[in-house]
Amino acid sequence: MPSCVPHWIGNQAATGQTGSLPVSNPATGEVIRHTPIADAATIEHAIHSAQQAFTGWANIPATQRSQVLFRFKALLEQHRDAMAHCIAEEHGKTLSDADGEISRGIEVVEFACGIPHLLKGEYSCQIGQGIDSWSQHTPLGVVVGITPFNFPCMVPLWMIPVAIACGNTFILKPSEKTPSAANMLAHLFKEAGLPEGVLNVVHGGADTANTLIDDARVQAVSFVGSTAVAEQVYARASAHGKRAQALGSAKNHLVVMPDADIDAACDAVMGAAFGSAGERCMAISVVVAIGDPTADAMAAALAKRIRALRIAAADTDPDMGPLISESHREKVIDLIGSGVEQGASLLVDGRETLARTPGFFLGGSLFDHVTPDMRIYQQEIFGPVACLVRQQTLDAAIELINRHAYGNGASIFTASGHAARQFSHQVMAGMVGVNIPIPVPMAFHCFGGWKRSLFGPLHMHGPDGVRFFTRMKTITSRWHRAPNQPPSFDMPVVE
Ligand code: NAD
Repeated sequence: MPSCVPHWIGNQAATGQTGSLPVSNPATGEVIRHTPIADAATIEHAIHSAQQAFTGWANIPATQRSQVLFRFKALLEQHRDAMAHCIAEEHGKTLSDADGEISRGIEVVEFACGIPHLLKGEYSCQIGQGIDSWSQHTPLGVVVGITPFNFPCMVPLWMIPVAIACGNTFILKPSEKTPSAANMLAHLFKEAGLPEGVLNVVHGGADTANTLIDDARVQAVSFVGSTAVAEQVYARASAHGKRAQALGSAKNHLVVMPDADIDAACDAVMGAAFGSAGERCMAISVVVAIGDPTADAMAAALAKRIRALRIAAADTDPDMGPLISESHREKVIDLIGSGVEQGASLLVDGRETLARTPGFFLGGSLFDHVTPDMRIYQQEIFGPVACLVRQQTLDAAIELINRHAYGNGASIFTASGHAARQFSHQVMAGMVGVNIPIPVPMAFHCFGGWKRSLFGPLHMHGPDGVRFFTRMKTITSRWHRAPNQPPSFDMPVVE
């Protein structure tokens, strides 16, 4: 019987479960361990532990909190191979891709090391006779992060370093499908000197997440996952009057203008659409070719490359690995079938690669002549499927993208500065690339989509991360020798 991953509470492994969920190695289909579903006492223990740790941690000078993060960064770099293997084993992505996710996570840690600079606040001297006023960022208290399966290290690191650098204590509820990276992060934080209770990991599924969201001691909820759940989590947390940010699904378009370098655009699409088997929220899943000659050239070049994709388990360093689960593979296969039924041209059929079982492998697929009424266009497929949509003008392409329900990322490949500028200004997406296929911002900028890709006003990390994990307190203070005044019952005004 494969073992259960422990929870992590008060800097120690903890047990306590009402049941468990299997964790598979997607490359073999084998169950390798289980994720415990935390019982009520375990969730209570984690919240209590985070609550107890809060005052002490919030009162440590911000620069000392940063020192823990500096040490954590060094430790994560030291253990990055083990972390990459852990991610690849449970997720199925290639080792180099797993290593890339660790790098992007480390960038957020580096950003968080400098957070004292962003906690400086604002100061107004002498707003009245002998009166000064300042606004300071104060931490919220116990905050919760709920994260998806596809970035088991990076997405928790979008939240944890920023939240704790700001003085909060944190409870992470990672994906039940890829639970182990969270525990590795927690171990390394302990080794870096993080006091007990500041970071806790509670495993489980939807019920575990909802118990955490509902608890009155939890001040804020940061969520990343599918839109259906993001919307529910945002509504649930907001109904309790809590601060929430909930990042959801995506359908990212890449426009190829007639003046673009077709080879470069195709190479960019290959990595962006098929890297991580398409299981990225910033994956390019729709290519919008402007003009039929551009579309014909893209279709031919992409089909050739897709047929040559090397698909295998992570340890052989392929282009892409398997999908996360059998049920997800079935969902992607169903969507491919719907594309055929609804009249799109299936130029490369990834279903033919199913013979590679055991494991949840699926080959790359390419559809041409995709139209907005089709399910493969409307829904996030989250698999190795690229859809080619033909448009005749840039205006029409922008209108198409802006009509889509999701607005995470969008890119344009062009040699024209004018087209690039028009696209950047008019497209309704949170992250825009010009000759860049996956425009994931650096950690000192914010990450987040528009429309149904994000619920809540604040994006992840960057200045928004600090805004999300702190609230302002404005202090007005008088220190001058003034004769005693009789009480005034009027609205205070500056004299
Ligand atoms: P998911 O929505 O199924 O699960 C995400 C997390 O929510 C998990 O921890 C899960 O246990 C929990 N959860 C599931 N149902 C819940 C419920 N009813 N109430 C509360 N919590 C619940 O997502 P997933 O399949 O793990 O991840 C893939 C999705 O995440 C894709 O849609 C992808 O686009 C999205 N994603 C978005 C971003 C982004 O930045 N916008 C980044 C990564 C992934």
